Amino acid sequence: MQPAIFFGHGSPGNVMEDNFITRTWEAIGREFGKPKGIICVSAHWYTRGIKVTSGKAPPTIHDFGGFPRAMYEMQYKAPGSPALAEAIRDRLAPLEVELDDERGFDHGSWCVLLKVFPQADVPMVQISMDARLSPREHFEIGRVLGEFRDEGYLLMGSGNIVHNLPEMDWQMRDGSYDWASRFGDYIREAIAADRPNDLIGYEAQGRDASLSVPHPDHYLPILYVMGARRDGEPVRFETPVVEYGSLDMTTVVIGA
Ligand code: ZN
Repeated sequence: MQPAIFFGHGSPGNVMEDNFITRTWEAIGREFGKPKGIICVSAHWYTRGIKVTSGKAPPTIHDFGGFPRAMYEMQYKAPGSPALAEAIRDRLAPLEVELDDERGFDHGSWCVLLKVFPQADVPMVQISMDARLSPREHFEIGRVLGEFRDEGYLLMGSGNIVHNLPEMDWQMRDGSYDWASRFGDYIREAIAADRPNDLIGYEAQGRDASLSVPHPDHYLPILYVMGARRDGEPVRFETPVVEYGSLDMTTVVIGA
């Protein structure tokens, strides 16, 4: 069975770097070997309704600003999988799923995968998060998507447990605000103790939660990955650090 992995992707600029975060992503790729395919839930595809990429060769989307020119020329040419997209649509019924054969791969997926599977030869689909759903509904979709792990597909979430861009301080590469540290610890403890209701009900953490998750897009992918966790399945954390004050870089590996 393939794992379910939440990657804390942080700044898109990681794709240009060789640092302890990107080396961890590379090591994860070597550890598990190539899956039959990847189902990716990225923070950067937050939509009305559920959509799945269904093109045969989805383009690389350069959805970021202010980075070096070389980053806009990078391509991640992993093949799409129309068949997997259809299988996901069928498995999620009666939820409505729209196949999107024009949408490409956003930086939440490819900036990480360029390190994990640099050869870009693993077929991939991205599935969007429906902004109208509750945290519990996102979690339940993760449970269904997790069934594909038995068939050799990696379920990948990409976001950040703590993600507050306005509060980011570029001078604080290794620094963390107190609220960011507290919220990250709370989430990691809930994951380690397998208390999904604490993750689904994260807003009960009050100000720590509203500062750490000012918008749900970067947080919700962890709910998909946790939804895919089986009873008693092991979990481990990689790089549980905060960068720039308000970006938690924790990666969560389920199934190893
Ligand atoms: Zn992001």
